[in-house]
Amino acid sequence: MMKETFLGVDVAPVTYKRVISEISRNIDSGEQSTIVAVNPEKVMEACKDEKVRELINSSTLQIPDGIGIVWASKWRGGQIRERVTGIDMMSYLLHFAEQKNLRVFLYGAEEDSVSKARDNIEKHYPNITVAGYENGFDGNEDQVVQQIQDCQADVLFVALGSPKQELWIRRNKEKLGVKVFQGVGGSFDVWAGKEKKAPKLYRDLNVEWLYRLVSDPKRIKRQLALPKFAFCVLTKNR
Ligand code: UDP
Repeated sequence: MMKETFLGVDVAPVTYKRVISEISRNIDSGEQSTIVAVNPEKVMEACKDEKVRELINSSTLQIPDGIGIVWASKWRGGQIRERVTGIDMMSYLLHFAEQKNLRVFLYGAEEDSVSKARDNIEKHYPNITVAGYENGFDGNEDQVVQQIQDCQADVLFVALGSPKQELWIRRNKEKLGVKVFQGVGGSFDVWAGKEKKAPKLYRDLNVEWLYRLVSDPKRIKRQLALPKFAFCVLTKNR
């Protein structure tokens, strides 16, 4: 697949359905898939840190999670037309896992978040197999890897924040028989009902960032990445 590159960071011009079909193909050919969500904040981090850039670019699928990426693609005449968010991608994958009888493991977040996320996921997808879960604060890495292996997990969601979760996946990918890895940031907190997804109106108008800013003004520092990203894309054109 031809990827689009923004300031040296690759993004796959995919939709949710395209991600699922790519993953399905990789499973059939015995290849592991890693999904990383790319937004302007991560691109700006990657500009400062070559390791972050390499980490993103070496993933199988970099999903365009961030309206800034969609704008930049349109500006360049690219093919990315809509966001593919980490949290919604996770729902598509859960549905796929339920249909294909793939075993799911949830790793990361606080104990009460991840256990409640498990309960809510099981309520929402009655035929899913959540083979296990572990919070992101206890347990050493080798033990967690062993636990995931013992559960024979096929789909692993890692919620440790970025780039910690991507680094974890990179270190442990080969040790695991997992078929699909997705780094999901704060998604277990959303599934647990601790963090709210932006209301539909904000999402439909593509101003989720505005909702986040109003509900948590401290995010202004993180959100300044968006105008910086826009400026760099407009002026550097690479
Ligand atoms: N977290 C964790 N272990 C750590 C640090 C963070 O499990 O050592 C969890 C934290 O509880 C939260 C998630 O990682 O559920 C990070 O969410 P955030 O929204 O900050 O991630 P982002 O998507 O912004 O990278």
